Amino acid sequence: MSLPPSVELVNSGVRRGAFRVALFDFDGTLSLVREGWPRVMVDLMMGHLRDQRLIREPEPACAAHVESFVMALNGHPTIRQMERFAEEVAARGGTPAAPAVYLRQFLDTLLAVVYARWGDLESGRARAAEWVVPNAHGILRAFEARGVPLFVASGTDLAHVAREAELLQLTAHVGGRIAAPKDNDASFRKRDVIERTVRESGIRGHELIGFGDGVVETQEVKRAGGVAVGVASNPAGVGGVNAAKRDTLIAAGADLIVPDYEHATELLAWLWGDA
Ligand SMILES: [Mg+2]
Repeated sequence: MSLPPSVELVNSGVRRGAFRVALFDFDGTLSLVREGWPRVMVDLMMGHLRDQRLIREPEPACAAHVESFVMALNGHPTIRQMERFAEEVAARGGTPAAPAVYLRQFLDTLLAVVYARWGDLESGRARAAEWVVPNAHGILRAFEARGVPLFVASGTDLAHVAREAELLQLTAHVGGRIAAPKDNDASFRKRDVIERTVRESGIRGHELIGFGDGVVETQEVKRAGGVAVGVASNPAGVGGVNAAKRDTLIAAGADLIVPDYEHATELLAWLWGDA
């Protein structure tokens, strides 16, 4: 079985063989409902810096700097990005608001968009398949067909992930196995989730396979000894490889890069080393 052409092999020495647990990030890895959140976050932060006259470099350079720390923290609880922004404001000589205040502003803006999309799903104006990474349901079924239990680890608030999983018809696959911060608990760490999942499943680290579009889950799956598949997903309806995510995921240690799950069956056959 050869690797499907849409899959980029980054680590030619990647372990192949039976995997016993699969771990998925949620936003950008299964759900596309929140895609566009980095734009919302960066715009909000730039607005504050502008209002307080804290931008001394050319504005695009400042926006690129803000975007880089936002993306570097992708996968941590959202409050971490707001804490980092408050430090940025202080470092530039401004007076930061409490991180929780920035978080509230961000969520208010983002959730208006998210809730409108939920409404479309609830009413049937949109289908679940339109708001997931292409063939997300297919790859989950392919793992289940191989008897591999599925887990989700997300930095997004648990109540939101659970509701969205339901609307996207993912609950049948991952219900009850979603780890995410409750009420924006800042102590939530994907590292803890991954260590616990490996321990409680009674597997060795190399029997873990992880899928994510962020730095944190990629690094933590590698740290645990597993295989990390980087999901360089684009917004709903766009498709193809997201070049910025691809580069970030490779730098974080991803073994393979996929744009979506269109060739999930072939990918799993290759990973398992099927004849
Ligand atoms: Mg993500």
